[in-house]
Amino acid sequence: MSKQKPSYDPSRIEPARQAVWIERGDFEASRPEPEQARAYIKPSSPFTSGNLHMGHVRDYSIGDAYARFRRARGDAVLFGFGFDAFGLPAELAAIERQEPPADWVAECGERMLGQMKRLGFSFDYDRVFYSSDEGQYRWSQWLFLALLERGMIYLDDATVDWCDTCNTTLASIQVEDGRCWRCHNEVRLIRRPTWFLRITDYLEENDANTELLENWDELSLATQRYILGRSDGVEVELEGSAGPLTVFTPHAEAAGHASLVLLSPRHPEIDTWLSDDAVRGELEQMRSGGWDRDARDARSVPVLDTGGSVTAADGSQLPVLISPLVDARFGPTAAFGIPAVDEADRDIAARFERVAAWSEPEDGEAPTPAPLDGASVSKRYRANDFSISRQRSWGTPIPIVHCKSCGPVPVPEAELPVVLPRDIRPTGEGNPLAERTDFVDVDCPKCGEPAKRETDTLDCHFDALWLWVPAAVPPEARATQMFEHPDLREWLPADRLVAGGDSGGFVFDQRVVTKALRDRGTFEFIENGEPFAGCLFHEMVIADGRKMSKHLGNVVNPDELVEQYGADTVRVAVLYAAGPAKTLNWSDGALRFANRFLRGLWTYSQDRFAALEDARHDEEAAADTAFMRDRLRKWCENGLERITADVEELQMHKAIRNITRLFERIQDFEKRVVKRRGQLDRADAEAQIAALVLVAQALAPFAPHVAEELLIASGRGEGAGLLRSWPDAAEIPVGNLRATTAP
Ligand SMILES: [Zn+2]
Ligand SMILES: [Zn+2]
Repeated sequence: MSKQKPSYDPSRIEPARQAVWIERGDFEASRPEPEQARAYIKPSSPFTSGNLHMGHVRDYSIGDAYARFRRARGDAVLFGFGFDAFGLPAELAAIERQEPPADWVAECGERMLGQMKRLGFSFDYDRVFYSSDEGQYRWSQWLFLALLERGMIYLDDATVDWCDTCNTTLASIQVEDGRCWRCHNEVRLIRRPTWFLRITDYLEENDANTELLENWDELSLATQRYILGRSDGVEVELEGSAGPLTVFTPHAEAAGHASLVLLSPRHPEIDTWLSDDAVRGELEQMRSGGWDRDARDARSVPVLDTGGSVTAADGSQLPVLISPLVDARFGPTAAFGIPAVDEADRDIAARFERVAAWSEPEDGEAPTPAPLDGASVSKRYRANDFSISRQRSWGTPIPIVHCKSCGPVPVPEAELPVVLPRDIRPTGEGNPLAERTDFVDVDCPKCGEPAKRETDTLDCHFDALWLWVPAAVPPEARATQMFEHPDLREWLPADRLVAGGDSGGFVFDQRVVTKALRDRGTFEFIENGEPFAGCLFHEMVIADGRKMSKHLGNVVNPDELVEQYGADTVRVAVLYAAGPAKTLNWSDGALRFANRFLRGLWTYSQDRFAALEDARHDEEAAADTAFMRDRLRKWCENGLERITADVEELQMHKAIRNITRLFERIQDFEKRVVKRRGQLDRADAEAQIAALVLVAQALAPFAPHVAEELLIASGRGEGAGLLRSWPDAAEIPVGNLRATTAP
């Protein structure tokens, strides 16, 4: 009698569902209706590396589940992204393959989009963009000019991190433990003309806002506080041999014990302290020759004696020394050295005879408090301006012309974009842009005399400053209205950013630039200047307890997993295996768990759907089990409440656990009814199927293909309807409860 039940075959159902979604346009972001809640969910922007890795799968599985959940709740959803396509990774890969980076990027993007579609990620694919497209980087150039006009971009002959291997300068966030983020070789500090982004104007506001941000998880907030690097303490203005100097210390209670003052090499008044040519020469050497980035230890870090001093409150003379150690702790400022309470200061003091000797107090004895007269409460931020230009050809051309008579002249906005030659073939040495006379030779926009274009390009971190904007603008309007389109007011700020735990630097600077654009009037509707109303950072995916790398041979390839188990299993596994704040140590255990669960739910549900037509109804039997159906509905109510709260907090591992528990309860319901009555009445079967439909709906954000197939098989019909509605346990039919409870 029973119908042929389809077996669970992801390779059949997944591509079929995906084709239907595209055909129906399920994921197209449409402008929200009046009164409709809206959510722009911003995933991380991948480099065009050519392959999704498990970290991407984790990122997009979280964001996709949240996007599908919000759609099911009836909200307008924009889930869009673009590729961070400029920069070193693409350029180096193109060099290796001896092809123009533009071609390589196009190939990679296409391949990665194919992978994303196969995983069932519900992006609005019509909105995908590449930061390396002319129509896109035109606006990076516009942003450069807008920030230049506000004094937030400047050219300085400055100390920068330099990687000999990659032959380029690096932004400080590209230096990890003194090593290049890209090639992991040690970097040097050198001096050369470099474009900087000034972030200092907005540090205070970023600081104040960080404490007010809601819907930001602890991990993301911690990165913002770390990057800001705030120290609270006191400052005092002292008279010195070269003039007055404001000196800071976090040790308010011990400031009176200071025995020296340390100046940052980047202190704005450093020049007044360089009366001695020898010291000036040494400082130049410190800046240009660089020092070992690992020399953070106070015993080996470079320290110069200016020969000058300031007069302390008690009349004693405190020698003024220069050291980059100050930058690493308090930014470009002046700080007291207090050997009594600070070990690094103790080590530095020991290196100079001119510094008063300091002797260790007797065991366990803390120095007597010695606050400073005239000191006022103050604070310092370690975060500082960062370099945004690189000597590389695969990047946004900087819209600047260098003229002998006028100096650096901005390219007029009407002449944007400054087009990057698409056929450029970098070799890995020098900068091929500088050798292209068709690019370099140009007339000065100001005086008309022959001049040269800037041949440094913008670091891709600069492009990233506004990569959260374009998805909110319809593609056809981007050429003219990228920063002015009315939709921006609908979608911004983004409801939720979902990104890797290493994105803190990008996000910090995006927060700075949003405030600058607000103050410029462009984003006046973002009153607090915050681009992301909510934020979730997740940790990385590793294997065998170690970072995945080709070298270790422990790289997990998502394509192979999808091929073997299907996209739904991979998605559920990567979400279930660990909460976002934990590093995910990949193992097949999570895969097997996810696959077993999906298979079990599939088979069980299909069996129950098929058995319904044979189920008979008996008034008395139904009345006898009504209290059990009522209990089933309560389980569903409670389970759904938990699942909903979990998804709202993007704790997808908990949501999946609660879904599996609810499924167990539904099976338990059947066992109990059978135990009591020998079989399910039709009323029981209908309630159970309603509960299984509820589980499929709750599962849809995580395993959308299998969920939709089950919803169709339940007889609820094809169409987006059920996927577009979040379940309601009240719909589980219980029948007349009074019949059983009445005496
Ligand atoms: Zn390098
Ligand atoms: Zn000129």
